[in-house]
Amino acid sequence: MKTLLQGGEIVSGAGVSKADVLLENGVIVQTGPDLSAQGARVVDCTGRLLFPGFIDGHTHFDLEVGGTITADDFRTGGRAALRGGTTTVIDFAAPDKGETLFHGLRRWQEKAAGAVCDYGFHMTVDDWNETIFQELGEMPAQGITSFKMYMTYPAMMLPEGDMYRALLRLKEIGGIAGVHCENSGLIDALVSDAKAAGRLSPASHPRTRPAPLEAEAVGHLLRLAQVAGVPVIVVHLSARESLEEVRAARKRGQTVFVETCPQYLLLEDSVYDAPDYLEAAKFVCAPPIRKKEDQDALWEALKNGEIQTVATDHCSFTLAQKRAGRYDFTKIPGGLPGVEHRGLLLYTYGVTKGRISAADMCRVLSENPARLYGCWPQKGVITPGSDADIVVFDPNAEGCITAADQVQNVDYSPYEGFRTKGCIEQVYLRGTLAVDHGQVLETTGQFIHRGAPMI
Ligand code: MN
Repeated sequence: MKTLLQGGEIVSGAGVSKADVLLENGVIVQTGPDLSAQGARVVDCTGRLLFPGFIDGHTHFDLEVGGTITADDFRTGGRAALRGGTTTVIDFAAPDKGETLFHGLRRWQEKAAGAVCDYGFHMTVDDWNETIFQELGEMPAQGITSFKMYMTYPAMMLPEGDMYRALLRLKEIGGIAGVHCENSGLIDALVSDAKAAGRLSPASHPRTRPAPLEAEAVGHLLRLAQVAGVPVIVVHLSARESLEEVRAARKRGQTVFVETCPQYLLLEDSVYDAPDYLEAAKFVCAPPIRKKEDQDALWEALKNGEIQTVATDHCSFTLAQKRAGRYDFTKIPGGLPGVEHRGLLLYTYGVTKGRISAADMCRVLSENPARLYGCWPQKGVITPGSDADIVVFDPNAEGCITAADQVQNVDYSPYEGFRTKGCIEQVYLRGTLAVDHGQVLETTGQFIHRGAPMI
């Protein structure tokens, strides 16, 4: 079936231009002014912006962590993603401790069997041995070209020498690593001091993971990457001081990619001082929410191109799950929901406030993640031959975010009460109408076999 999106304005990283878009058999077949309908179903897109389907390069669906499991799986999380204009998520496959990478990949393929949006996986490397060394060489043939490593959480960290060897191996196979940067040792010491002093409320969470300990780890990673001679991705960068480390590395000639998340652009650390336990606990994530000066620095860095992608790190837990840390903040399952509202938040608080342009928004939500994660131009652009993943965005609508109106499987929103400008009117996933005026329709997600990062 053919669909003609008529009279809208196509957004790309280069700007906005008025053009019709013809979709057929799941792909975009033609773009241009005044296309003839040719028997297609015609959708009037006058006054609408047409974005390439957003890509969320950082989600955690169906993840077991700390004795519980995230509230969203590939079905509920995928429905929320689609409703927010995200047509592709890149989640994280992780082997169980001592298991092979293929074991992790199989497990995640099973979890994603009911996915409703398109998906790929980063592969977590949290162990280092001959088997994993060999298996990394087989990952690109499986469509896995990006990997995750940790500089915090002792159970998941590689010793530095192994991390260095893993970075070298990724270079050989044409892969890239995204790294969680926080200094583990000092965080452990601060947590232990807080506990000894009886400071067990969520207010201790940001105080035990201060910004300099993120910046230290970013700097540390970038020095390892310098010696290894590899590009790296700093994921969920939250602090102004971390940006300084990135700038220093780039000045040395290194290639560094940076991801940030809406929670670091829009929320302030005073959220942890709420007197009600759950009000504070619901914001616990790592790195923690930072300060106004960090937000300002991140927006500036988005505008000037120092930050390449905005992903969500969607890792949702219900309030009942968040209660687990009632008497000890270290037992609060860490993570925020976000996959449903990223586009709307970025448009409202970025584009309409003049902090970024619609083209910038397209770059950080669609174009850059598609390139970095090796699925360009199948994804991330509205051009003939690309998948017909399209967000029809009405820039004039107004609304308000509330948990009562969301499909993600969680009973709160970190952005409760946030006014929004614009609305995601329709979403097409490979040419199939997936969302119509807020209603999520039935779709089937496909695994995206990704190629080498375009660096
Ligand atoms: Mn994460």
